[in-house]
Amino acid sequence: MLKVENVKKAFGAATVLDGVNLTVSPGEVVSILGSSGSGKSTLIRCINGLEKLNGGRIAIDDFDVAKPKELAEARKRSATVFQLFNLYPHMTTLQNIALAPVEVLKRPRAEVEQEARALLASVGLSDKVDAYPAHLSGGQRQRVGICRALAMKPRYLLLDEVTSALDPEMTAEVLAILAKLAREGTTMLFVTHEVEFARQISNRIVFLDKGVLLVDLPTEEFFAASGGLAQPRIAQFLSKMK
Ligand code: ADP
Ligand code: MG
Repeated sequence: MLKVENVKKAFGAATVLDGVNLTVSPGEVVSILGSSGSGKSTLIRCINGLEKLNGGRIAIDDFDVAKPKELAEARKRSATVFQLFNLYPHMTTLQNIALAPVEVLKRPRAEVEQEARALLASVGLSDKVDAYPAHLSGGQRQRVGICRALAMKPRYLLLDEVTSALDPEMTAEVLAILAKLAREGTTMLFVTHEVEFARQISNRIVFLDKGVLLVDLPTEEFFAASGGLAQPRIAQFLSKMK
């Protein structure tokens, strides 16, 4: 399990995460909704071990991200896709995808490249194996970004607003890939503004408001008048999303 326990994070005097608790079990899709600045990306960065916690604990399959000896094991278990694609411009799609499995996991290149080709085929990009990022559309780059994360065979896939830099058509391309991954049982922690899509693929929805996790509910309860909608902040957020 991925466990976030009473996590606190501040930047200077500003408290950005204020006692956040969250658990993601294998096979679950959990979406994180919340306004801009509510702390969603910071939470993802804390789970990655990219930010030092000011309190609480994050453990991935019992490996504590705050313990230097356990961080590498924790990191191996999750992979993140970011809003901006962060592909290396001087590398082809195949090289971008193969880099970490070869360099970090020390796996044989031939085997990794074969898997990378299969991943690219699974997202409809077989013809872009040798293309450079500059020659791909935004939607294609983000599909490569997803392949790059999946190439690490993570137990938990973290996605931080992976479609917010894309136009509607490209967004649809990428969401179709994520829906397929969800159907295949991929465990995902999904930060998004795509409320309707989150509703379709998530087991649970959590709502962050100014660093506080207001609710954590099964999806349909979140959207029910007696559940998440009973919270004025959430009703207001959802009405703006329409
Ligand atoms: P979200 O992803 O929900 O939009 P963020 O996690 O990016 O929110 O940011 C939450 C708050 O933390 C914001 O007020 C942001 O300005 C602040 N913040 C994020 N990263 C830093 C940083 N490295 N230094 C200072 N403040 C930061
Ligand atoms: Mg963010």
